[in-house]
Amino acid sequence: MSRPSIAHIDLDALRHNYRLARNIHGGRALAVMKANAYGHGAGPCALALEGIADGFAVAFLEEAVALREAGIRSPILVLEGVFAGQDIATLELLDLWTVVHHEEQLRMIELHEGVPRIGVWLKADSGMGRAGFALQEMPAAHARLLASGKVTEVTLMTHFARADEPDHSATLHQITAFDAATSTLQGDRSLCNSAGVLGWPRACRDWARPGIMLYGADPMPAANSSLRPVMTLESQVFATRWLQTGEPLGYGATFVATRPTRVGLVAIGYADGYPRVAPNGTPVAVDGHATRLVGRVSMDMLTVDLSDLPATGIGSRVELWGAQVGVNDVARRVGTVSYELLCNVKRVPLAYR
Ligand code: PLP
Repeated sequence: MSRPSIAHIDLDALRHNYRLARNIHGGRALAVMKANAYGHGAGPCALALEGIADGFAVAFLEEAVALREAGIRSPILVLEGVFAGQDIATLELLDLWTVVHHEEQLRMIELHEGVPRIGVWLKADSGMGRAGFALQEMPAAHARLLASGKVTEVTLMTHFARADEPDHSATLHQITAFDAATSTLQGDRSLCNSAGVLGWPRACRDWARPGIMLYGADPMPAANSSLRPVMTLESQVFATRWLQTGEPLGYGATFVATRPTRVGLVAIGYADGYPRVAPNGTPVAVDGHATRLVGRVSMDMLTVDLSDLPATGIGSRVELWGAQVGVNDVARRVGTVSYELLCNVKRVPLAYR
């Protein structure tokens, strides 16, 4: 008998969210599938979108190779680009697109001796201060790519640092600076991640690159209520016990009962990716009823308050996040983002429906 912990993945919700992203943005959209599709399983998620999505994006070449091996024929963009000259041959062989964001990568393409079949996305740093060519370097980098004779097309891209802050001027500044620096350059444009799609219509161009919104999590509070959660992480109560007033619970006695408290022991813990730092009061749902985490999360189990839910007991279904418990609500409690919670899920089987 296997442990009753599972992450249900709703592929219809994934397709719905992709269509929503594409409709809001207009133009085409690469579905971002990096980090094993944010913990949802890159192969099955990409296959569910194959024929619907205009293409996919992953962080590393290895992830792109895995998608080709899984049967994905659509365009795939490698967001971090290549790390060594010989990787260019793999791009060519598997018909992959690559981001070029620094001088070394540009030189690898110039020095490559293969046929000119590489689709390149040239990345500008318009304010993130991380990867990308400085804005003033863009025209020269663009010209070198075209002159190399190795590329089929050059798409111009940048990435937002603060698009999830709708009232902050940083994104507007990035858009304006990117436009000014690339105004004379030929090629498609791509600016928007999920927060860009949802919050910055003036940044919508030829291609969007939505990630987190595909999985049904708003990148900023209440950005779009039509998003449908894709992952439901659930487990079961496998034992119950009563604590008397004043009795402590679990490691570090981080919860002490202030009234007679019925506790449910749930078969999931931090080794499954549920955050150990989740405090008392973090929301969970038991058999559809809202309740709360009590006590410290252990490696293989956690404990929930069943005091006000008399009909619950051994075998009750516990939702850690999904349709009833927003992953963003859990993330806020633990001081992180939904991205980290979702892509940390491990050890539990992913079940597709
Ligand atoms: N584009 C790039 C270059 C990224 O690195 C990422 C992810 O961080 C995305 C798009 C997708 O971002 P999000 O998941 O916020 O939509």
